[in-house]
Amino acid sequence: MGATPSVESAARGAKSQAALEFLKSGPKKLLIGGKWVAAKSGKTFETLNPANEEVLCLVAEGDKADVDEAVKHARKAFEEGKWATMGPHQRTRYLLKIADLIEKHAEELAELETLDNGKPIFESKNIDIPGAAETFRYYAGWSSKIYGDTNPSDPGMFNFTLREPVGVCGQIIPWNFPLLMAAWKIAPALACGNVVILKPAEQTPLTALRLGELILESGLPESVVQIITGFGPGAGSSIAEHPDIDKVAFTGSTEVGKLILKASTGNLKRVSLELGGKSPNIIFPDADMQSAVFGSMLGIFMNQGQVCCAGSRVFVQESMYDQFTDSLAQMAQSLTLGNPLETGTRMGPLVSKEQHERVLGYLEIGKKEGAKAKVGGEAGNQERGYFVKPTVFTDVKNSMKIAREEIFGPVAAAIPFKDENDAVFQGNDTTYGLAAAVWTRDISRAHKIARALKAGTVWINCYGMIDPMSPFGGYKQSGFGRELGKYAIDLYTQIKSVYTKL
Ligand code: ADP
Repeated sequence: MGATPSVESAARGAKSQAALEFLKSGPKKLLIGGKWVAAKSGKTFETLNPANEEVLCLVAEGDKADVDEAVKHARKAFEEGKWATMGPHQRTRYLLKIADLIEKHAEELAELETLDNGKPIFESKNIDIPGAAETFRYYAGWSSKIYGDTNPSDPGMFNFTLREPVGVCGQIIPWNFPLLMAAWKIAPALACGNVVILKPAEQTPLTALRLGELILESGLPESVVQIITGFGPGAGSSIAEHPDIDKVAFTGSTEVGKLILKASTGNLKRVSLELGGKSPNIIFPDADMQSAVFGSMLGIFMNQGQVCCAGSRVFVQESMYDQFTDSLAQMAQSLTLGNPLETGTRMGPLVSKEQHERVLGYLEIGKKEGAKAKVGGEAGNQERGYFVKPTVFTDVKNSMKIAREEIFGPVAAAIPFKDENDAVFQGNDTTYGLAAAVWTRDISRAHKIARALKAGTVWINCYGMIDPMSPFGGYKQSGFGRELGKYAIDLYTQIKSVYTKL
């Protein structure tokens, strides 16, 4: 595809005039030093609407030269200290203002998110955008609650600790929750007094760019936030390697997470990684079945299954395996797959052609391995767009590829288990450890299993609950470091011990 066709056609069905105006005002630029600038190379790339494969907008393709420039501005802003040494109550006000601006423009942001990512507007409106505002609001409160300690030192000494910002933080985010991930990264970093360089995913740069405009509107001091759009190798790798970036926070695939970690060794950056998952969702016969079926459906089909903590391995006790998978398949079939801008749509397209091919590839692998698609198992019937039917595979063994590898699509692998021990053993038999769930009315069993599962988050009788006050992150190859809650304060501060001789 060449130049942008009409925005109206690419954004077919969009209702928000503001979203259309934003798209029309492209090509989009990089936010560096408080100004919107073109990439030094002059290059741009296309961002598509995955529901109709048309170009929404052209976006600047930042690379090493732009990252270098962004770091210069960020470093200057950090060392001059306007932000880092600003009174905490004042920092709070800025974060609250950003939260308010997100809410004020919620409709436009929701529509941009749906156009760029393909997720149902129902989800953008009810999860992504309010979640982003809430995250800024939550961390606004933290600015004035970052305490050090007075340590029980020898009487001849007075020793205390200070928590100081880390400095220039590079933040690389994925395409599945574009604005929400930007908020998870930027809000705690700013609350602690850091300056940031955010790189949104190349598939979904739009809401981060609109957030950049809102951040400027909030009056945040110049150069505290830079936004560099571009590709992984190029913009992303330059951030990971940069000798003057103090910390890199990454959310994305385990494969790229390993590259980020390697690249960080040059200047021993602090690193936090939130990576892939293959989360077990364990259902016992004594569970409230209606809730368990509904929760399991949300666990794997929300956001088209493009969720790092998706409940992609559904473990069902063998006595009720057929009955449960029938109900799950029925519910999957009832989900409306189609234009994500329609309020009744519950599943939109996958984010990109590449992701579409990848997921369809796994559907074929699953069938070859001997799994049966009780429902779905193929692309959607739509003429255009990257649609995949919600799929429930039965007769799955935990050793199969579809149960071991992260598919990142609407594909549930239903696996039978014998008893508690077997459920825990199979659930933990994975290289990942991001999340897990257990459904049972037996409270003691629920808590025993929650302790035995090797995962950063465990849900009991629910799936996918996330709140800015509670930590999120992985065991094993799902990464390290905890975002959200008070734990993100550890990621974005460093501790100084001060001794005074009395
Ligand atoms: P996915 O496979 O789901 O697209 P990725 O891990 O490839 O997830 O991408 C997540 C983010 O990491 C995106 O912003 C992407 O541009 C970026 N990225 C990809 N490759 C690299 C890399 N080599 N170095 C730094 N960032 C990268």
